Amino acid sequence: MLSKVVFLVVCASVTCFPRLTNLQPPFSFYTRSDWHAQPATDLTPLSTPVPYVIIHHTYKPDACASHQECITAMQSMQRYHMESLDWGDIGYNFCIGNSGDVYEGKGWERKGIHAGKANGVSIGICLIGDWRVDQPPQDMLVATKALIQMGVDRGIISPDYKLVGHNQVMATQCPGAALFDIISKWDHFANKFSVA
Ligand SMILES: [Zn+2]
Repeated sequence: MLSKVVFLVVCASVTCFPRLTNLQPPFSFYTRSDWHAQPATDLTPLSTPVPYVIIHHTYKPDACASHQECITAMQSMQRYHMESLDWGDIGYNFCIGNSGDVYEGKGWERKGIHAGKANGVSIGICLIGDWRVDQPPQDMLVATKALIQMGVDRGIISPDYKLVGHNQVMATQCPGAALFDIISKWDHFANKFSVA
């Protein structure tokens, strides 16, 4: 009994278990302030863990190769979503650039506006660019998977989540045929979106 207590005390003070949340993610992460986001007016919380991850492309704006181009893309999407569509913020939870840099949109804790009835049960990830014909760069795909895993590790995305494209929730070409073909081969891909 005593040895068990000693073990627990030692374990609590040293590192007996990997603390995944403290590890650096394998991508560069840019917060809203990094891309100079306007303050959001829609702050609806997301109830977590969510059972779905929804993948999008932008179609427009075009793919961004440099950090500055990606910042410009984020700002233009937010402007369009707020000023033309009156969504109160950029609609996506996260967006990803060509080099695999991740940009915070609504983030982990706020409900996105990106896929109609799926908004309240999903994290929406947008791969910036038009992926109907062209395939996204490998770095972008690697970052997408790592971001999803980060969401699972944080308890935001359910460990048995289902992965779907926007086109499985609504009538749209998003996320583009080339990207859809890729995600349809990933773990957790589901043939159908259905809200329980
Ligand atoms: Zn979409």
